[in-house]
Amino acid sequence: GATIGILGGGQLGRMMALAAAQLGYSAHVYAPEPREASVAAQVSAAYTQGAYDDEAALAAFARQVAVVTYEFENVAAAPLAAIAPHAPLFPPARALEVAQDRVNEKSFVEALGGTPAPWLAVDSAADLARAVETIGAPGILKTRRDGYDGKGQWRIMAPADAQGLDLPDAGLIYEGFVHFFGEFSVILVRGQDGEVRFWDSAQNEHEGGILARSTVPAPPAIAAQVPAARDLAAKVAQALDYVGVLTLEFFATDAGPVFNEMAPRVHNSGHWSIEGALASQFENHVRAILGLPLGSPELVTRGAVMDNLIGDAADAWPQLLADPANHLHLYGKAQARPGRKMGHVTRLVK
Ligand code: ATP
Ligand code: MG
Ligand code: MG
Repeated sequence: GATIGILGGGQLGRMMALAAAQLGYSAHVYAPEPREASVAAQVSAAYTQGAYDDEAALAAFARQVAVVTYEFENVAAAPLAAIAPHAPLFPPARALEVAQDRVNEKSFVEALGGTPAPWLAVDSAADLARAVETIGAPGILKTRRDGYDGKGQWRIMAPADAQGLDLPDAGLIYEGFVHFFGEFSVILVRGQDGEVRFWDSAQNEHEGGILARSTVPAPPAIAAQVPAARDLAAKVAQALDYVGVLTLEFFATDAGPVFNEMAPRVHNSGHWSIEGALASQFENHVRAILGLPLGSPELVTRGAVMDNLIGDAADAWPQLLADPANHLHLYGKAQARPGRKMGHVTRLVK
């Protein structure tokens, strides 16, 4: 089989490489950290240590693979043009540009009829004061780029909280706080022929800004909001001429689904699909970028519950393995740190 190129060396790339291997393809990972520090490199035949903006290194990498994809969206889009003469890039660079910037993704989704929380771009302390006055508190100040697992966010409970903040020298966005009764994600795969398939939407529960648990199927009050959310996700995929797996996160509110953010990639809230669906998000992503027929995202049982193993929670692996109902995944990270995703456990609901 051919080789797929993966930008990013984390656990998502690792699970992509494992899915590719099952179909007879090998992986070549490109990431800035040394090989020893990459958990994707542990399961990929080839590894290039290179910066995401090193056009010569990206071109050399692209010459060695059949297709390039990414597991990490905080990669500058412009240098990826160096890949185009040598290999296709899926999802397309445009998807990365839109999804890696909270202002871009919210504007893009609004233009397609979606509803995010009220928001304003913030580039100075004066902008922030104006935004809090206009939108009100509580709200959340976020960096436009580079945030994940709740990093780069400040909760503003009252206007006074916005004063004297040590703001980073980066573009920011202020969002009104959404009073939701649940959170869910829409994960779809779009093939090169434009066909779209959806996995069941999981209810997602976060702790300290980090995903803790995903449950499928979601409870009825959330499930009722999935059709509208899917319509929006399909429009986003179509507008971006998307190929691969795409995720949109939503808040379920009394006024309907409120768009939170999108990820142009496989997503933590879809890990249940490895054992819980006929074709996992990783397998279908590989199929889509290679132009192969898509697999079925259907549930194989009544449902599934996925728990993240964060920080020292993964130390309990012997007990987790002792329960035959647990599907245990450990990502091979050497160092556990508080807030670090070390693995996950899926239980199917029979
Ligand atoms: P991810 O790891 O999903 O990329 P992230 O760092 O991009 O996370 P967000 O998804 O923006 O962070 O926020 C993390 C969580 O914080 C959300 O899932 C939600 O629980 C809460 N949150 C974020 N924005 C809002 C909001 N405007 N109103 C209410 N809660 C919010
Ligand atoms: Mg995010
Ligand atoms: Mg999020």
